[in-house]
Amino acid sequence: DYILSIKPYVPGKPIEELEREYGISGSIKLASNENPLGPSPLALAAIEKALSGLHRYPDGSGYYLVSKLAQKLGVAPESIVLGNGSDDIIGMLTRALLLPGDEVIMTDPSFAMYDITTCMVNARSVYVPLIDRALPLDTVAGAVTSKTKMVFLTNPNNPTGTVFSGKAFERFLEAVPSDVVIVVDEAYIEFVQDPECARAFDFLDNSRPLVALRTFSKAYGLAGIRVGYGVMPPYLAAILNRIRQPFNVNSLAQVAAIAALDDEAFLKQTLAVVHDGLAWLYAELEKMGLRCFPSQANFFLVDVKKDAAAVFEEMLKQGVIIRSMVSYGYPSYIRVTVGLPEENARFVAALKAVLK
Ligand code: PMP
Repeated sequence: DYILSIKPYVPGKPIEELEREYGISGSIKLASNENPLGPSPLALAAIEKALSGLHRYPDGSGYYLVSKLAQKLGVAPESIVLGNGSDDIIGMLTRALLLPGDEVIMTDPSFAMYDITTCMVNARSVYVPLIDRALPLDTVAGAVTSKTKMVFLTNPNNPTGTVFSGKAFERFLEAVPSDVVIVVDEAYIEFVQDPECARAFDFLDNSRPLVALRTFSKAYGLAGIRVGYGVMPPYLAAILNRIRQPFNVNSLAQVAAIAALDDEAFLKQTLAVVHDGLAWLYAELEKMGLRCFPSQANFFLVDVKKDAAAVFEEMLKQGVIIRSMVSYGYPSYIRVTVGLPEENARFVAALKAVLK
């Protein structure tokens, strides 16, 4: 019964299917916060080189990727857990650490996998509403009870693009009992421009179960090959590594991630495309009299002042796939991922046509 109570994660349909359904072609997807530049070229080259080794099992410990991350991040290799995307680590955390009936605090709205993986083990999601689209850390801390086992915080937040500061996070840690597992999902942290933004790494120590989650799916352009990681106190990493599927990160993903970490030029170009694109899109949408919400990520919310589900459908007919925020509690908002300059221009032209 508790499995059947899970609200399924509904991924977008394949573009080809949507195009067939709507009788269109050549559409663009600005819906899943992916990297518009494609994968890192260095990662692609590494994948090609590794193809001939596909008859072998992957390195189950992810030795070279873990070493590279440890060196780059300045943490001990024992504090890193690799995942088949950060989704995998979210699932490991809930499977390893929660018992039926435990409470897990998350915001409303928040990333769907927190609730799905909580319900999966018959634990209970407790929602704290966002305030002005931002994570109200003081309210979250106030919602902690003796039943609270875990808290999910998303920084920058999806779908709103807001961040919390290091100072606010420090206050939060002081207010929350030190046995509560705090998971800070930093899937979009590379895009942050605000110098005040908290970085969970700065607060990691062995005194409490604090976890920072990161991914290669966004800034590194590797969403399709599935690789992410968590950084946490070594005793916690040892627990997760006990229940981790031994070959959860495939051999192509491992070499791709290592190469992507070396591809500084690609990361720099990605950030430039996203930051320039955000500035251009804000200006264009403002000229249209629309309100956009400033974002620290590679996506942002726009109030289209109409039923967002209908706008989604009409945009689709124009060949532009965006995300309606109706099911997130924002009936007139859409979420748009920043694309290449020509994609951003197509989005603006399509939105003008749809809203006229
Ligand atoms: N956390 C957040 C906030 C996300 O938006 C996403 C991707 N949509 C993920 C985690 C999952 O990322 P991954 O591809 O690493 O599983």
